[in-house]
Amino acid sequence: MRFLHKLYCAAVDIAFNRSPIKMASQKKTPLSFEILAECQTTKARTGRMTLVHHHVDTPVFMPVGTQGTLKGLLPQQLEQLDCQIILGNTYHLGNRPGADILRKAGGLHKFMNWKRALLTDSGGFQMVSLLELAEITEEGVKFKSPYNESECMLTPEHSIQIQNAIGADIIMQLDDVVKSTLTGPRVEEAMHRTIRWMDRCLSAHERPSEQSIFPIVQGGLNPELRAECARQLTKREVNGFAVGGLSGGESKDEFWRMVHLSTDILPKNKPRYLMGVGFAVDLIVCCALGIDMFDCVFPTRTARFGCGLVKTGQLNLKQAQYKKDLRPIDETCDCMTCKTYTRAYLHHIATVETISCHLLTVHNIAFQMRLMRDIRNSIKEQRFSKFVQNYMLTVYPDKDYPTWIINALKAVNISLL
Ligand SMILES: [Zn+2]
Repeated sequence: MRFLHKLYCAAVDIAFNRSPIKMASQKKTPLSFEILAECQTTKARTGRMTLVHHHVDTPVFMPVGTQGTLKGLLPQQLEQLDCQIILGNTYHLGNRPGADILRKAGGLHKFMNWKRALLTDSGGFQMVSLLELAEITEEGVKFKSPYNESECMLTPEHSIQIQNAIGADIIMQLDDVVKSTLTGPRVEEAMHRTIRWMDRCLSAHERPSEQSIFPIVQGGLNPELRAECARQLTKREVNGFAVGGLSGGESKDEFWRMVHLSTDILPKNKPRYLMGVGFAVDLIVCCALGIDMFDCVFPTRTARFGCGLVKTGQLNLKQAQYKKDLRPIDETCDCMTCKTYTRAYLHHIATVETISCHLLTVHNIAFQMRLMRDIRNSIKEQRFSKFVQNYMLTVYPDKDYPTWIINALKAVNISLL
C-alpha cells in the first residue's frame, strides 16, 4: 500500500508538471551513438554514446547501485575508477525514498551526488523475483504489499512516471518477465504483452528530450518468438534496445544462441544492452556477439561476501589458504587495494569489517572497468580475436574450454587456440 501510495503521488506530481517538461526543446536527442571501430572477424564493435549527463564508451559494464548508492563507494571514487554509467533500481527507489522526494530533490543525480550517466530498470523484474505473490495481468504487475497485504499494481505508465522522476539518462520499459527456462504459451503471451506495454511506456513518457526508453527483446528460448519480438520492437522510434529474460538458469548454449539471434536483427547503429550479465568470459563472448552494454550485481555482491575477482575466476579471501599470503589480490592490477593491501590483510578483515567491503568493491569495479577497456582497445586496434583467444587460454590453461564458448565463438569466426 505504501508503495502504491507513492506511485500515485508520483503520478499526480508529474501530471501537474506536464507542460514545462514537454516544452523543453523537443528536438534534442538524449542519446547519440557513434561506432568508432568494428571488428573485421566478429560482430564486436566499440563506440561512444553521448548522453545528457555524460558520454559512455562501449562496450561498457554498468555497476548496480540499487538504493541510490553503490555499496561501499563514494560517487567520486567511482569516477576515479573510470566508471561512466551506473544503474539504479526503480522498484527500490520508488519504494524508498519515493518518486516525489526524488523529483523534489532534482532527480537521483542530485540526490546521490552522481554527475555522470544513470540507467534505471523498470521495477518489474524485482517485483516478480522478490515478491512471491506477484501476478501479471494486461493492466500491469499486481502484487500484495509486503507491508500490509493490500493489493497494489505497477503499470507500464507508473513505471515510466517513477523513472521520469528519478531522471536517469536511459530508462527501461516495463516488460512481462517470465522465467528464462519456461516454455509453452505463456512465453508467447509475455512476448506480445511486452510489445504492447512498450507502446504504453512510450505514450506515458514525459521527458523524451532528456531520457531514452529502451524496449526489451523477450521471447524466452524460442528462436521464432525472439526474432519476432526483435523485429516488432525495431519498428518503434527508440534510441537503443535491450535483450532481456536471459541469464536466469537456462543452459549457456541456449543463452548465447538467443543473444546471437537478437543482435542479428537489432539495428547496427543503435546500442544493444544485455541485461544481467557480468562474468568476464560471458562479457567477452557477448561482446563478440555484438552487445554494447552490460549490468550485473555480481562484482559488487561477491565483494561483500569477501571475494576478489581475478582472470581465472575469483579468490574467496575468507579461505585459510590466504592467511599468510602477502601478495596483492592481483599483481597486475593497479587499483588502490592491490597497490596497498595484501591477501593476508583482506583475509583478516573480509566480511567482518566494513572496510573490507570498500576495499574489495574498489578492486572488483577496477577489474570490470579494465576488462572492458581492454576489450575496447583490442577492437580499436583490430586485434580483438587475438585478445579473446589469449584470454580464454588464461582462464582455461588446459584448453578444456566449455562447449558453449567454443560454439559461440565459432559462430563469429573465432577458433580457440
Ligand atoms: Zn586491484
